[in-house]
Amino acid sequence: MEIKQYLLTRWQAFRAWQENPRTYRMDETEHVCNNCGRTFRGNYCPACSQPARQGRIGWLSLWEGIGQLWGVESRSGIYTLWQLLWRPGYLVRDYISGKRQVSYPPVKLLFILAAIIAVVQFFFPVPVEEPLVTGFRYLDTALTWLQNHENINALLSGCIFILPTWWLFRNAPRYPHHTIPEGFFVQVYVAILSFLFSSVFAESVPLAVTLSYAYMYIIYKQLFGYGYWETLWRLVVCALMSFVVVFVFIIIGLTVNEMHQNSLYT
Ligand SMILES: [Zn+2]
Repeated sequence: MEIKQYLLTRWQAFRAWQENPRTYRMDETEHVCNNCGRTFRGNYCPACSQPARQGRIGWLSLWEGIGQLWGVESRSGIYTLWQLLWRPGYLVRDYISGKRQVSYPPVKLLFILAAIIAVVQFFFPVPVEEPLVTGFRYLDTALTWLQNHENINALLSGCIFILPTWWLFRNAPRYPHHTIPEGFFVQVYVAILSFLFSSVFAESVPLAVTLSYAYMYIIYKQLFGYGYWETLWRLVVCALMSFVVVFVFIIIGLTVNEMHQNSLYT
């Protein structure tokens, strides 16, 4: 019974953290801004936006200077990834609904991750998959390029989901009438996760793909608030519509390819 009670308390604390991971405290002491000289109360100077505690360069500044690449405090990239693993849909909801300080800027995160993973893979190379060869020149060029730019690949794949998602989830109970730009940022977060999984589990593609789709489902479930089945069938229809779009793009690509080759012989 005690264990059950303990687990219940932990679970409720976890659920509360998922819903709202952070409270902000206002610094009420008086500061004189080291940058512009204004006297103020608060965490940041209201005139020039320098943080209240920032002064002469010290050992802490050294660390902060390096840390700024990753963002600091609540907006750190690592904390954003942590949230993305444990409260993905809520993080996305927070970011697109205007709670911007909870997350490292997601597009930037996707590209910084790509840079870091490229460095890691330089030292610990993973076996490169054979590029898909279709025999159609433009298509092969495009496929090879995408294979070498997996973060952009993940983002483009996500972008195909924007319109179907917008249409199928427009009346969602928890986040109704999301806009196309909001839909884009949903896919950026999805892309960060699927890029991360495809890089970390590069040797096991089925695992990476399964994890990516599972997380996509969790994001949609937490963000839009439909039930388990209602989320599932909507996502499946989204995926089917996306496949149709990709198919149409490939047909267009092949037609252009044909026309180009025909023009070479006439
Ligand atoms: Zn100032």
